[in-house]
Amino acid sequence: MNTVEILRSHDIKPTIVRMKVYEYLYSMKNHPTADTIYKSLSPEIPTLSKTSVYNTTTLFLTKNLIRPVTIEENEIRYDADTTDHGHFKCTACSEVYDFNADLSKMEHNLSEDFQINERQLLFKGICSYCKRS
Ligand SMILES: [Zn+2]
Ligand SMILES: [Zn+2]
Repeated sequence: MNTVEILRSHDIKPTIVRMKVYEYLYSMKNHPTADTIYKSLSPEIPTLSKTSVYNTTTLFLTKNLIRPVTIEENEIRYDADTTDHGHFKCTACSEVYDFNADLSKMEHNLSEDFQINERQLLFKGICSYCKRS
């Protein structure tokens, strides 16, 4: 599927900004904040505003096209990979890495009376690159 088809399949009308933001999230896989997306795309789209980036990511979240990643308080990062996985944050270089994790299996440790709206698994430490240097 191309970007237009992916957006349409999530009931999102494709606009230039929406396409560029989704392509950025999907290709970079760097779990950026709205601020990072804005800084990276504004040279390419001079008319882009922080508000339009924020509105776009909020729309994507509502339509389950992307997932929120909360690592630091008061900071939402975005992930175009909506499959189950965990995150490893390197406290030396601040990079966020993905790793395989079956979060649906962990759900069973919770009583059925609990309603789960969001699943996040976060590890913190020193990544292999920083450990070597
Ligand atoms: Zn690192
Ligand atoms: Zn991720």
